[in-house]
Amino acid sequence: SRHFFVGGNWKCNGTLESTDKLVDALNNVLIPSNIEVVFAPTSLHIARAQQKLQHKEIKVAAQNAWVKGNGAYTGEISADMLKDAGLEWVILGHSERRSLCGESSQIVADKTVYCLKQGIKVIVCIGETLEQRESGDTSKVVTEQLGAVAQALGTDVSQWKQIVIAYEPVWAIGTGKVATADQAQEVHQTLRSWLSSNTSAEVAQSTRIIYGGSVSAKNCTELASLPDVDGFLVGGASLKPEFADIIKSGS
Ligand code: 13P
Repeated sequence: SRHFFVGGNWKCNGTLESTDKLVDALNNVLIPSNIEVVFAPTSLHIARAQQKLQHKEIKVAAQNAWVKGNGAYTGEISADMLKDAGLEWVILGHSERRSLCGESSQIVADKTVYCLKQGIKVIVCIGETLEQRESGDTSKVVTEQLGAVAQALGTDVSQWKQIVIAYEPVWAIGTGKVATADQAQEVHQTLRSWLSSNTSAEVAQSTRIIYGGSVSAKNCTELASLPDVDGFLVGGASLKPEFADIIKSGS
């Protein structure tokens, strides 16, 4: 069975002081052994979070990485640097990066390949906008986004084990409008059967597909119980004490 995964995405938030406080709080959370936990501060706060973090069961992640290694790429951070800094995970292709920074599915796939090659595991984000959902295009959009990654990774299950797919419907992000259990399960199941048809049954069964978008202490228990929901990617609530409750919902 799949190892439940909970990620906290701090987005572009934080001060040195708030980082210290949040990490101190995480240090005191008892993590059930069947749950994997990561959180992603800004690049500027990663080192501070690493210094403060005492919890061996929690890992610090990055929110993005460049598509290549070191070089003349002003403002960017490479997977080589993440590796050197001792990070294990990076979030790639968040909808905010796709929509605000113009990242295409191809770029996200290329970044994924490069990070995996450097030994950095990847949380790949996908998800449809409200307009796409209302025009009945949800499955088409999310399978295109997943398809670019699948095309790049192929069918090697050992590669897929280094990846977590985060289904984050754009209309649910930061809106308080969480997907219903039926909506989440339907898309997660679509993604898993797409993987089964286009990679292998083994990849489909072992790849973790987590949900993101207005996850809170209130709604996490029901979502966590769904057969194809293998965890969460949490934005706003990862900056609050309720993140601990969301972590525990997977046990
Ligand atoms: P919220 O939990 O704030 O809706 O954000 C979700 C998200 O984008 C996580 O990556």
